[in-house]
Amino acid sequence: MRILIIGGGVAGLVCARALHRAGYDVTLIEASDGIGGRVRSDCVDGFILDRGFQVLFTAYPAARRQLNLAALDLRAFDPGAIVAWRGRREVLTDPLRDRDPAALIGAALTGIVSPADKLRTLQLALRLRRQTVDEILAGPDRATLTELKALGFSDQMIDRFFRPFFGGIFLDRSLQTSAKCFRFNFKMMSDGETVVPARGMGAIADQLGAELLRAGKVRLNTRAVALLNNADRVTGARLDDGSELLADAVVLATPAPETARLSGLPMPEGSLGSSCVWLATRHPLYRGKKLLLNAEDNAFVNTLAPLSAVAPTYAPSGWHLYAAAILSVPEIDDSTMMARVMVDLHRIFVNEAAAMTTLANARILRVDRIPFAQFPQPPGLHPNLPDNRSARRGLYLAGELTEASSINAAILSGERCAEAIQVDLPR
Ligand SMILES: Cc1cc2nc3c(=O)[nH]c(=O)nc-3n(C[C@H](O)[C@H](O)[C@H](O)COP(=O)(O)OP(=O)(O)OC[C@H]3O[C@@H](n4cnc5c(N)ncnc54)[C@H](O)[C@@H]3O)c2cc1C
Repeated sequence: MRILIIGGGVAGLVCARALHRAGYDVTLIEASDGIGGRVRSDCVDGFILDRGFQVLFTAYPAARRQLNLAALDLRAFDPGAIVAWRGRREVLTDPLRDRDPAALIGAALTGIVSPADKLRTLQLALRLRRQTVDEILAGPDRATLTELKALGFSDQMIDRFFRPFFGGIFLDRSLQTSAKCFRFNFKMMSDGETVVPARGMGAIADQLGAELLRAGKVRLNTRAVALLNNADRVTGARLDDGSELLADAVVLATPAPETARLSGLPMPEGSLGSSCVWLATRHPLYRGKKLLLNAEDNAFVNTLAPLSAVAPTYAPSGWHLYAAAILSVPEIDDSTMMARVMVDLHRIFVNEAAAMTTLANARILRVDRIPFAQFPQPPGLHPNLPDNRSARRGLYLAGELTEASSINAAILSGERCAEAIQVDLPR
């Protein structure tokens, strides 16, 4: 039974590997020069640069099933975050998980979050820890902002913590993203660690794809330009070199806009872009392994991630690596982008002479622009996402677009797609 998988992102890799292991004759074609899709890393002058700043949650259920986490040599961020606002930097942390006495004391003394908000956060963490993923995803949906207000959080807590923190995850500081995404991500962070593999996020895709590459099942630099049909059945794909690949089933594991174009089927609409400026410095800008959130209302940089503090392998000896994440793809050139990043970082470190000197000597390694990083996930979207079995015979869908916009969802979609094919087309 020949299965053609179009797209070598996480979802396509998981689907292809499962079918290959089950004895199907699998071919995976990938348009770009490497596997991983949105989860790739590059080595640049001895630094590891992911394609945009991203992380893995060790509690992701599908990741736990499909990845050998130990082999990824995971390095964890410290729980909580540093919130930068009006020239101050204050620590917010999870008292259930943080073992750093200084962070715990700092968080206890912070003026940004009131004692009542701290209590609500703790109660929420405890409740979500007790509930299963199915329980937190059940029931009616609403916007994250509506949910936070209903839970009694103050505007100050929402504006200074939830907007930059969860806005950074959903690429949506307005917090209009589904509260189901919020609950799921909050639970993932409470239940496990926030990590990057020592060799970069691309190591996740490398692990998923290793078996397929060894077996010669992957064709890189190979783009599907159209699907082939016989009567009402999808029978293969035409490639960019004009050749055709025939198969008993075709899996589209491409991002939503490309899946819509190739299949002609309705897919989740819209796109959320993000950018990332990679900075190398000779000295650390701050100590510790917490994310730094820019809580200013007019923030350009949303998050500063101290990658080499978390995983020293990300930078060569004597250097420190930071990812400055921006929640859009502004139409400005690299030098304007870097200038705007520097304005925000100067505002954040304004009272520290050493950090200002470090910034003055910082090296910009790369600017990433990712126009399609995620699709928007408003309340009520998820039950209406496409199924792995498409409306066209012989055509299956894998990819975040059948579940939600995350690495966990992409893995889950790949698993479910492979299961559907094994049921419909037993070997
Ligand atoms: C900057 C950024 C930050 C993120 N942060 C996080 C995070 O912290 N945590 C998290 O869980 N998720 C995060 N995500 C989301 C996560 O990366 C994605 O949800 C997930 O990787 C999607 O996987 P996928 O396999 O569905 O699609 P993709 O990774 O997009 O893979 C699709 C593949 O199809 C290929 N392709 C496209 N068209 C064709 C064609 N015609 N022929 C052949 N091949 C084709 C593409 O080249 C690509 O390799 C982030 C994403 C970005 C970009």
